[in-house]
Amino acid sequence: MNCPVDGKPLTPMTYEGVTVHTCTTCGGECLPGDQLSHIVSVREARFDAATVEALSSFTPLAGVPADSGARALHCPACESAMRVVNYSNDSGVIIDRCPACSCVWLDKDELEHLQILMEMWHDRAPAGVRDVAAQLEMARMQAAEATAGPFKGSRFAFVNAVINRLLDAA
Ligand SMILES: [Zn+2]
Ligand SMILES: [Zn+2]
Repeated sequence: MNCPVDGKPLTPMTYEGVTVHTCTTCGGECLPGDQLSHIVSVREARFDAATVEALSSFTPLAGVPADSGARALHCPACESAMRVVNYSNDSGVIIDRCPACSCVWLDKDELEHLQILMEMWHDRAPAGVRDVAAQLEMARMQAAEATAGPFKGSRFAFVNAVINRLLDAA
């Protein structure tokens, strides 16, 4: 498996229980999409204060930047053309996802940024939101029952992770 940015071989590493293929040249990382939501939802890693401070004014956004189409990466796992997506539609973190095998590619530090943002938004959530989280969880389970296959829709991954975190804290 080679880096989609610079073509160098990727090195498999274990990060929070998940196998991630990392490029030691550019710092990018490739991992299965469903594993990304797992990593984002666990709270093991500790981050340096400067990075957390830099992200503290980050605002979640929908959509992708107009210039993101200029980037055309090919999936390290299956060579398909990857798509630029806003992680879970509204996180505001732009990543590359393979439509064929659902692998995701994150540039250097993007994985860490997703984790930091998740923790930050969770910590800011007012008590009222935690009450609502229980209702959201109910709606999510109903949606899961209404879906034929296993409910792992990636577009809900980030929201799911937030809900799970809120429920843990409630
Ligand atoms: Zn690279
Ligand atoms: Zn792929």
